[in-house]
Amino acid sequence: RGKRAFIAGIADDNGYGWAIAKSLAAAGAEILIGTWVPALNIFETSLRRGKFDESRVLPDGSLMEITKVYPLDAVYDCPEDVPEDVKANKRYSGSSKWTVKEVAETVKQDFGTIDILVHSLANGPEVSKPLLETSRNGYLAAISASSYSFVSLLKHFLPIMNPGGATISLTYIASEKIIPGYGGGMSSAKAALESDTKVLAFEAGRKHNIRVNTISAGPLRSRAAKAIGFIDMMIDYSLENAPLQKELTADEVGNAAAFLASPLASAITGAVVYVDNGLNAMGVGV
Ligand code: NAD
Repeated sequence: RGKRAFIAGIADDNGYGWAIAKSLAAAGAEILIGTWVPALNIFETSLRRGKFDESRVLPDGSLMEITKVYPLDAVYDCPEDVPEDVKANKRYSGSSKWTVKEVAETVKQDFGTIDILVHSLANGPEVSKPLLETSRNGYLAAISASSYSFVSLLKHFLPIMNPGGATISLTYIASEKIIPGYGGGMSSAKAALESDTKVLAFEAGRKHNIRVNTISAGPLRSRAAKAIGFIDMMIDYSLENAPLQKELTADEVGNAAAFLASPLASAITGAVVYVDNGLNAMGVGV
C-alpha cells in the first residue's frame, strides 16, 4: 500500500509545504492538505481553476493529485478554544471542523490512518519588530502558531498514525544564531520547535514508533517570507557566503523531506537536518 501524508500549511504553490507535497506524491504517497481557514477559499478556487496546474507537474510528467483539502487553524485545539469573534468572522463561519482535534477526527473518519505528518506553518504577528520591542501577546502568538501547533498536531494525529511513520517540521537557523530582522519572538518559536523535536522524538518513538525530525531550511521567497521583509537580502547573503553558491529551490527541501519520511531514514529521529546549501556551517562571511 502507498503511504498517506497529511501536510499542514499549504495555501499556494510557492512555499515549502507545496514542494514537500510534490516530492511525497512523486514517491507514491497520497496527499491530504490542511489549509489555513482564511486562505482556504482562494486556494481551493485557484486549484479548481487550474492556476497551479503547471506547478503540479511531477518528474514523470503526471500531475500531483490532492485527495482532499481540509480547513485548519492550528492555533485552536478544539471548538471550546475558539473565541466568539473568530467564530463569527465570515472567513471562518463558512467552514467547519477546522480545529486540530476536529481535523484529526475527520481524517480518521475519511481515511482511517496516515503515515506521514508534515508541519509547514508559522505565524508571528510582530515578526518585523525586534525582540526588545515585541509585546507579550505577540511573542505568545508566535509560539502558539509556530511551535505549540506542532505539539498539538502530533498529539491529535499520533493515534491515527501507522507505526513506522514519520513527522517533519520546518525550522530556521535564527533559532540558534543571531539573524537580525527575524523578530517578534519567531526566533524563540523556532528554538522551541527544535527542542520539542527532540523531546517529541523520544515520546512518539517510545509510544508509537513514530519518528520526529525538523528541516532547518535556507531562505525561500515564499508568501510568509516576503511578509517578513528581508528575504531578498537573506537570499543574496546565502548566494555570496554559503559553500554552495546557488539559489536554494523549494524542491531541494521537498526531496529532503521525502527522504526523511521514507524508510531510507528509518534510524533518523530527533534531528535538525540542514537543507541550506551549507550556510549553517560557515563561521564568517567570505
Ligand atoms: P508559506 O507561506 O508557504 O507557508 C506558511 C503557511 O502557514 C501558510 O500557508 C499559512 O496559511 C499557514 N498558516 C499560518 N498560520 C496558520 C494557522 N494558524 N493554522 C494553519 N496554517 C497557518 O511559507 P513557507 O516559508 O514555505 O513556510 C513554511 C515553513 O517553512 C514555516 O515553518 C517557515 O517558518 C519555514 N521556513 C521558511 C523559510 C523561508 O525562507 N521561506 C526558511 C526556513 C524555514
